[in-house]
Amino acid sequence: MLYRLNKFIGKSSKTGPAEEPSANAQLLERAGFVFKYASGLYEYLPFGLAVLKKIENIIRKNLNALSCQEVLMTSLQPKGLWRKTGRWDDMAGVMYQFKDHSGKDFGLSMTHEEPITQMAARAINSYKDLPFCAYQIQTKHRDESRAKSGVIRGREFIMKDAYSFHASQEDFEKFYAVMTDIYQNIFKECGLDSLVVEAPGGSFSKVNSHEFQVLSPAGEDKILFCDKCQKAFNRDLFGAEDTPKCLVCGGELIEKVGIEVGNIFQLGTKYSAMLGCEFTDSDGKKQPVIMGCYGIGVSRLLGTIVEVSHDDKGMIWPASVAPAVAQVMVLSEDDGTKKLAEQFLAQAEKSGLALVYDDRDVSAGVKLAEADLLGLPYRVVVSEKNAGQIEIKKRTDTNTKLVDLAEVLAILNVES
Ligand SMILES: [Zn+2]
Repeated sequence: MLYRLNKFIGKSSKTGPAEEPSANAQLLERAGFVFKYASGLYEYLPFGLAVLKKIENIIRKNLNALSCQEVLMTSLQPKGLWRKTGRWDDMAGVMYQFKDHSGKDFGLSMTHEEPITQMAARAINSYKDLPFCAYQIQTKHRDESRAKSGVIRGREFIMKDAYSFHASQEDFEKFYAVMTDIYQNIFKECGLDSLVVEAPGGSFSKVNSHEFQVLSPAGEDKILFCDKCQKAFNRDLFGAEDTPKCLVCGGELIEKVGIEVGNIFQLGTKYSAMLGCEFTDSDGKKQPVIMGCYGIGVSRLLGTIVEVSHDDKGMIWPASVAPAVAQVMVLSEDDGTKKLAEQFLAQAEKSGLALVYDDRDVSAGVKLAEADLLGLPYRVVVSEKNAGQIEIKKRTDTNTKLVDLAEVLAILNVES
């Protein structure tokens, strides 16, 4: 894939969106990855979309390895099913709800327990049909009164939501523990260190719900961390206590701030009992299915990566999610240089490298600044002064290196 910046639809700009102080909103829009369309609504341009697809594929790879099955449900939800669980009214403040032209009620969903439980019920007869886990990656909506922090908290966003179905609590707990590890794997592959945080919301005492927090001053969640046993807790677990102690070892807790990039929790039989999702056990008795649910904010992850990985010049993308591995520029007009650049681009394309080629008619200074702003892992400069060699520089290094064409390709192939 070769992105040419000349005639590119995702052009960079000197300024970011107004009234959006967050680093992710400013840098993503200035670099032309996203555009703030309205409060809490962001358009994704080619580079932003490429990052989203890479994050999605990291999630897919990890979940498919667990034999999770990908489905796609509808965003537009008729009221009926949601009335049965009482959530049509419970979520009225945050769910977009409206009438169609015939006067029937519909909502735009931000979560899918009701429809997935119904879908699972059609697939489950006996305990032999269990366990399984299904997930989707989908655009969701939330009537957010405080849409801010760029793509981290939007009114329209992309989520991965997974739901697991089990015949026993024991089987559920085993799967929940595996998912906890897989989640940390997913975030690690996206270049993020996540903290597993115990949180309220679980309806049983043995397994709580858990949040996955990435520490960042841009976060909105207060976390209490125990240095002694390394456990972390959501501040909300402690009520109004001034100096809460670790719930596991009684040690001192340190307050930290994080961005919640994922959460997992057990649902028990809450939805299966209400919506008739049952299985026949080995004694021939009908039982409600035990469920868990597992969310990851995909577009929020993209914003979080920018928050924790940027400097005063621009973004710094981990290679695993970067829209391309290198930004290429030709800084002189002579035939020899042009020929070398063409050779490089042709060979890079052959080996399947994704590159950004700055072929705009602008100064070297503008091209170099653009490369820092976009923050791809490498910058590649072809110039007459390098006498047949090619200059390569890592976004995170200050030093440049002169190497021959074959070595540039070798370096980039290792990184992508
Ligand atoms: Zn502790």
